[in-house]
Amino acid sequence: MTVLHFRPLAAPHRSFWLQDIGAAPASAPLAEDIATDIAIIGGGYLGLWTALRLKAAAPALSVTILEADLCGSGASGRNGGQVHSWWAEIDLLTRLVGPEAESLARATCDAIEELAALQASGRIEMDLRLGGWLWTASSRAQEGAWDGAVRGGAPLVALDAGQILKRTGTPSSYLGVVEHRAGSLHPAKLALGLRALALAKGVRLHEATPVTRIESGTHCRIVTPGGSVTAAKVVLATNAWSASVPELHPYLYVVDSQILATEPMPDLGLHGASVCDAQAHVLYWQQTPGGRLIFGRGSGRISLGDRLGPGFNRNERGLAPSLAELKRLYPAAPRVTHDWTGPIDCMAEHLPVFGRLRSAPNIFYGLGFNGTGIAQTPVGAHILTSLILDRKDDWARSGLVGLDRRRRLPPEPFRYLGARLVRAAISRRNAAEIANRTPGALVRFLSALTPGG
Ligand SMILES: Cc1cc2nc3c(=O)[nH]c(=O)nc-3n(C[C@H](O)[C@H](O)[C@H](O)COP(=O)(O)OP(=O)(O)OC[C@H]3O[C@@H](n4cnc5c(N)ncnc54)[C@H](O)[C@@H]3O)c2cc1C
Repeated sequence: MTVLHFRPLAAPHRSFWLQDIGAAPASAPLAEDIATDIAIIGGGYLGLWTALRLKAAAPALSVTILEADLCGSGASGRNGGQVHSWWAEIDLLTRLVGPEAESLARATCDAIEELAALQASGRIEMDLRLGGWLWTASSRAQEGAWDGAVRGGAPLVALDAGQILKRTGTPSSYLGVVEHRAGSLHPAKLALGLRALALAKGVRLHEATPVTRIESGTHCRIVTPGGSVTAAKVVLATNAWSASVPELHPYLYVVDSQILATEPMPDLGLHGASVCDAQAHVLYWQQTPGGRLIFGRGSGRISLGDRLGPGFNRNERGLAPSLAELKRLYPAAPRVTHDWTGPIDCMAEHLPVFGRLRSAPNIFYGLGFNGTGIAQTPVGAHILTSLILDRKDDWARSGLVGLDRRRRLPPEPFRYLGARLVRAAISRRNAAEIANRTPGALVRFLSALTPGG
């Protein structure tokens, strides 16, 4: 029997998004011993989409979600709300899965249309606006960051400096491309909308229910502080927190990304578009319908082992570089009213993986979205659903299934120490590049050691 242990989660700092809608649990903690066909651990996009797809495929199945905190309290309620397809990663996808890459990219386009249909039908109001996703350069080193994707067939349309200025309100980004059928949304509205749909479909949900232990077997026993669940199949939809699973840990590293929200400001011309500047510490932003600028930056701080401490919820001490970038792009930006961080689940290939544990084949997992999950988790949920239902279809045969072709990372503490060294080099490279200086040879060498870099 395999026993998986989970660490307690740090008490989260609520993102602007969750505060904005006064998000609160919709369900009581588990307080008894129950049985279910399928137990899903984690009530983020992946867990919720998987529950919905399972119910659509097999309505008679009993599906239970156990969420440590509140649905959407993880990355799903904290992210930048940038909606874009996998076409931007088509070169990485092709390297990993070959010709299947195109159908995966198209599947994320379908997922965007699915979101649009959910909103148009009134089932989830998520502030989805398909104003385009702009991928830009604000310094010489980032020019053409999108060339690999364009060569791979991505439907990205070139933009010049004038067009970008008109659409973003900043002259800093001066070259780029746009994916038209993409844009922005309110991440927590999406998460809680999915939660409401899942409840309406008869999914049993327990929030404020952290899983502390899973004992594998023909039926797994899932232990929580108030009760237990016996399940024929278990899904780990625990994102970065999956790092505590020994079989997954060698492939997963967790970094944080930091987001700020400003007071409402005059219209920047984004009109529902989201923007991603291609610098090494990737910058991303959107303006909410109420006028707030939501401005994110990958800070690259890595977790030690499987520990995701309070710094992965909020990191006031790390704010300065994000504020400096905000001022560089938008010197007239008003006061910052909110800031938070969130964990990004990364794989060396920068693409997620799905499968079943070798040591416990009725425990399934999906992780490694690398900071791009809104249109990608619905696709991941298709893959997981086929695996869980033992279907022999294209989803189950996807090249994203299984760890065989994935790169193992160095063991701790070398991984952590090495990552800190690489991160310091990336920060220096980034500072040099955004000032259009060439970083030194050592910095260039070390920063290229990033997994998949
Ligand atoms: C700061 C940030 C910005 C991002 N920006 C974007 C963006 O602009 N566009 C985009 O497409 N993607 C973005 N992403 C990525 C996207 O948010 C994720 O890929 C997506 O939310 C992953 O969904 P998930 O369900 O796998 O994970 P999560 O939403 O993290 O869900 C995992 C859940 O598991 C729960 N959990 C963990 N351990 C346990 C346990 N022991 N017991 C019970 N429950 C547990 C957690 O509480 C959590 O709710 C961003 C991510 C971050 C962190």
